[in-house]
Amino acid sequence: AADTNKAKVLKIGAEMTFPPFEFQEEGSKEYVGFDMDLAKAVAKQMGYTAEIQNIGFDGLIPALEAGNIDMIVSGMSITEERSKKIAFSKPYYKSGLSIVVKGDNNSITSFKDLEGKRIAVQIGTTGAEEARKIKDAKVREYNSNSEAYMELKAGGVDAVVNDLPVNEYYLTKSGEKNAKIVGDIVNAEEYGMAVTKKNTELVEKVNKAIDELKKNGEYEKIYVKWFGKKP
Ligand code: GLN
Repeated sequence: AADTNKAKVLKIGAEMTFPPFEFQEEGSKEYVGFDMDLAKAVAKQMGYTAEIQNIGFDGLIPALEAGNIDMIVSGMSITEERSKKIAFSKPYYKSGLSIVVKGDNNSITSFKDLEGKRIAVQIGTTGAEEARKIKDAKVREYNSNSEAYMELKAGGVDAVVNDLPVNEYYLTKSGEKNAKIVGDIVNAEEYGMAVTKKNTELVEKVNKAIDELKKNGEYEKIYVKWFGKKP
């Protein structure tokens, strides 16, 4: 009976080089972003306190399976492949992939133009998967998105393939002038929160919490805070 007041902790894993969804502001250790605010709001709605851990993107599903975390909230796209292993909540954000090249690159204007080119991606992502499908492309996988962008800046690759909102953030907020987004968005993707397949009760609770936050305006408030416009 002694622990009836113990705060229930929900351990959440995310990879922190994915602004504006999850990242650390320069000089700060705090984990911030749209996902972080939404994850905390969902946890609170369910009566938990969120405890956030920074885990490599390709380590998130293993960490969930090992029981080191209870939930992934990391801009993770809902895919058929991943759904075989883990259970996703209802979608909470619509996304898709896009290409970033240097500002003076006029030869790459679409995915088709990436054939035979050097492409930087983050390991374990849908961007990496998509890049590998491109004919003769030399795909370089990095642990973080920051490293992929740095490689483009350094001229080690011709392009970065990553989620559109994160590419947009890179161009507008990082102060990077010599880069641009080209081509159409490919792959309509949606982000979901993920838990283990065994935890069906938690998925239902998370879905209910997302619905409630949409109804009470909290979701919209968080969305406007990070994207500067209504969903
Ligand atoms: N949405 C992409 C994916 O799920 C990228 C996510 C990320 O890098 N955090 O693979």
